[in-house]
Amino acid sequence: MAEPYDVIIVGGGPAGLTAALYCGRARMKTLVLEKATTGGQAATTDVIENYPGFPDGIGGYELTERIKQQALEFGAEIQEIKEVISLEADGKLKLLKLADSTLSARSVIIATGSEPRKLEIPGVEEFHGKGVSYCATCDGAFYRDRVVAVIGGGNSAVEEAIFLTRFASKVYIVHRRDELRADKILRERALENPKIEFIWDAHLKKILGNGKVEEMVVENKNTHERTSYQIDGVFFYIGAVPNTEFCEGLVELDGREYIITDEALRTNVPGVFACGDCRANLLKQVAVAAGEGALAAVEAEKYVEEEDW
Ligand code: NAP
Repeated sequence: MAEPYDVIIVGGGPAGLTAALYCGRARMKTLVLEKATTGGQAATTDVIENYPGFPDGIGGYELTERIKQQALEFGAEIQEIKEVISLEADGKLKLLKLADSTLSARSVIIATGSEPRKLEIPGVEEFHGKGVSYCATCDGAFYRDRVVAVIGGGNSAVEEAIFLTRFASKVYIVHRRDELRADKILRERALENPKIEFIWDAHLKKILGNGKVEEMVVENKNTHERTSYQIDGVFFYIGAVPNTEFCEGLVELDGREYIITDEALRTNVPGVFACGDCRANLLKQVAVAAGEGALAAVEAEKYVEEEDW
């Protein structure tokens, strides 16, 4: 097997790329493994308004590309892969199994983020890509002068519903309670937006159509009354599921599959650290992910330096 890396960072979103930039500056032999394109979920966000230093906001793609450039300039390698199948420990070394090879490292930083939670109701699978979407930034422009629905009441749902009003003639927000979870500033903007109509206390029950989305059926949770709405697209923002399956069994997870760490971002496995949205932390934000990436990198550097190899 080839000489081990000092650190392999799994995931190339804001947490992983920031960790790579710090590890690169520490002159560690650093590899970032990224499943699709770098940037993670942040790269699919139209504008990030609360990352410090950008008073006019910055595009999610642009921000993550900039962090990536910094990481590359400090010597990190980035490799696009299909997926990491498993993480195993071999003495002090860590082994990352890919479909066609195994990589080894003295330390590993897990920064795999999360992916959108899916709702298991009729029509979701059938119309995926035919009106069912998880990315308003990617697909919003297809809905110019059309009617769309956004499912969820958190920051993502409300932010993306507001974004969709740039294109759509009407945006329904279907939320299972009568109050939004989203931050106050977003709530205010959504409530003032004339193109947004709220459907409160409601569960989406099914999506219907002929080859593409044409209708949704929503049930009021109090009266159980069902109502049909003519729509052209549905965007789901009902939370996220952490990408931690590959390390299950080795790394300790909480009841919701998030990675448990101590305050130095150490997992239960010496030399394995976790940062960003895949970690059981209190706040899922790009600024937090970047900060955690920095800390995980510094702790990984300490670990690699202090051990005998
Ligand atoms: P989230 O905060 O977990 O909100 C998920 C929303 O979906 C909630 O309103 C929840 O309803 C609803 N929901 C969950 N399961 C559902 C189901 N089975 N059926 C119907 N509705 C369901 O998720 P998120 O909005 O994706 O945000 C994830 C994290 O990223 C959060 O920490 C968020 O603050 C952060 N984030 C921040 C920003 C920003 O700061 N601008 C932007 C995007 C995301 P209930 O409210 O009833 O639980």
